[in-house]
Amino acid sequence: MKHQRIAVMGGTFDPIHYGHLVTAEAVMYEFQTDQVLFIPSGQPPHKTQREVSPANHRYLMTLLATETNPRFFCSRIEIERTGYTYTVDTIRQLKKLYPQAEIYFITGADAFSEILTWKNPAELLNSCHLVAASRPGYSRTASAAMQQVLQEHQKTVHILEVPALSISSSDIRLRVMQGQPIKYLLPEIVENYIYKHGLYCRT
Ligand code: ATP
Ligand code: MG
Repeated sequence: MKHQRIAVMGGTFDPIHYGHLVTAEAVMYEFQTDQVLFIPSGQPPHKTQREVSPANHRYLMTLLATETNPRFFCSRIEIERTGYTYTVDTIRQLKKLYPQAEIYFITGADAFSEILTWKNPAELLNSCHLVAASRPGYSRTASAAMQQVLQEHQKTVHILEVPALSISSSDIRLRVMQGQPIKYLLPEIVENYIYKHGLYCRT
């Protein structure tokens, strides 16, 4: 029997936007995964410098955005964990839940280039596939250390060209704050949620 393949996309999703959704769909197609699991982060260790919206808002926006795709799912495992959330712990937890599954962890090029600074990168690299999706504005020239990672993990680290979408959550938050339109950058249902709950009005 073919083992199940699960693509996993972690993120702050503050808010989720079409850059995330297009990337997830491309990975699902390219690597023939059965589903994509979106995992909004709890307290992200690298985002302590700015206030992140409450986890429940981020979870609900992610759920709304993924609901129309029968193969997209949204998980609460990170937001229910206390303290900082680290990807390596999440992958370990997923491997316990789905012992037979092959996991493809998706990162944008920016997140991928920082992977060696994450908790326990060696375990992460050895426990799942990593897909680095190209993202406009982020250089693809890898540092020497990253080149070594790419070389040593050729079979499990993949670079994927995704249709260029220079959308980012930070830009969307700024636009909301400045009263600029965000229409067509993210699903309409998420846009409505942002306005209904008054998110991103203040810094
Ligand atoms: P922020 O601007 O607040 O950092 P973001 O748009 O980068 O938000 P995150 O929640 O930080 O969104 O990203 C989650 C994951 O999605 C990361 O791996 C990131 O690199 C990736 N990602 C985000 N936007 C895009 C995009 N437009 N194209 C490809 N990957 C993306
Ligand atoms: Mg980001």
